[in-house]
Amino acid sequence: MTVTVRFAPSPTGRLHVGNIRTALVNYLYARAYGGKFILRIDDTDRERSTKEFEAGIIADLAWLGMAHEGFMRQSERMARYAAAADDLRARGLLYPCYETAEELDLKRKVQLGRGKPPVYDRAALKLSDAQKQAYQERGITPHWRFLLSHETVAWRDLVHGEAAIHTQTLSDPVLLRADGQPLYTLPSICDDMDLAITHVIRGEDHLTNTAVQIQLFRALGAAVPIFGHFPMLTGAGGEGLSKRLGSLGVESLREDGLEPMALNSLLARLGTSDPVEPRQNMDELVAGFDITHIGRASVKFDPNDLGPMNERILHAMPYAAAEPRLKALGVGGGADFWTMARANLQHFDQARLWWDIVTGPISPVITEPDFLATAEALLPQDAFTEASWGDWTNALKAQTGRKGRDLFMPLRLALTGLGHGPEMKSLLMFIGPKRAHALLRGEPA
Ligand code: GLU
Repeated sequence: MTVTVRFAPSPTGRLHVGNIRTALVNYLYARAYGGKFILRIDDTDRERSTKEFEAGIIADLAWLGMAHEGFMRQSERMARYAAAADDLRARGLLYPCYETAEELDLKRKVQLGRGKPPVYDRAALKLSDAQKQAYQERGITPHWRFLLSHETVAWRDLVHGEAAIHTQTLSDPVLLRADGQPLYTLPSICDDMDLAITHVIRGEDHLTNTAVQIQLFRALGAAVPIFGHFPMLTGAGGEGLSKRLGSLGVESLREDGLEPMALNSLLARLGTSDPVEPRQNMDELVAGFDITHIGRASVKFDPNDLGPMNERILHAMPYAAAEPRLKALGVGGGADFWTMARANLQHFDQARLWWDIVTGPISPVITEPDFLATAEALLPQDAFTEASWGDWTNALKAQTGRKGRDLFMPLRLALTGLGHGPEMKSLLMFIGPKRAHALLRGEPA
């Protein structure tokens, strides 16, 4: 059996933290078992789905590093869903209903008023052929409900363990709207069958759908996949993910300079018993992934954790991974420069800032001209090495009696124009003698 999973977003927006996590758990699961990760576009809702959002989702996944091995678009498969509906209808498992939304609403209110669960009463099942005919003649087209068996549906959930739902507590789900358009359930099951999905992994908000879906798989003669429902993300205080947090999307995170692996590293381990560690690539993340380590408690997501994780990713990023991006930014200096600069980065693009400091035009900040003149006179004569900074500042210390901040800060301000930054020992090598002399004299370089 090849593990086959799918990520099935509706193209009604870009990816955000909630569904990135769903995509990621599926992706990692497929990779962990050498399986297939399929992207399915759930675009049966014609009013809200757009091609732009679909393209955006595909771009978001590519940026996150989740390549898919298969692709399906629901809007292209309407004939398949209609055929499945015909099949169910022929076997009496799909029945026409004529209630208006207002009538259904009223029924629910009456049930709730009597302290009963608002489950559809199956009144439409009792309609005679003549009554249906009468609706038809008045031009009222039905919506169609799937007849649940009213048995208890049990399954072993990858996250929840043994799960069971009594389907008599559920309304027979509407599979087709009155205009003939299928709602989410039927297309989803047809697709899962045709794609030979082995594992359906998604948020707990779909837990009750699962009983219905298992019955539908069976009704359509398909093998029932394995299910896994992980807890939803909540805000830092345990409240439901706010609109602002929930909609924290790839676009804005990317604009903020977030590394995709910072997001992946955090989201993959949230709610698991495993430590949240920075991982440089998907291979590293897959290595420590085990879906059974996802707990059942709700999972707190704090966007403030993203910044520190981003820094940890950058501070450990190997030169080989950084090299093409440094080239694109116009940053030179090879591995030595990267190793020095990365420890000071919050965002990758700031590497350019440090490169400009050592090569571009800068204005020195001169605090103490006399001290800096002494310093210039003591600058090592030869090309700078690792040892130059230590040799130079030791000589300067001996001559002036200064130490610590008094000794180092005027040099840093003159040589970089800034009061903070990478280790001067390393920076000095990239600044080089010519530039150092000019800057210590207060000349722009
Ligand atoms: N399009 C559905 C959603 O985003 C897919 C749910 C599923 O995984 O079955 O909620």
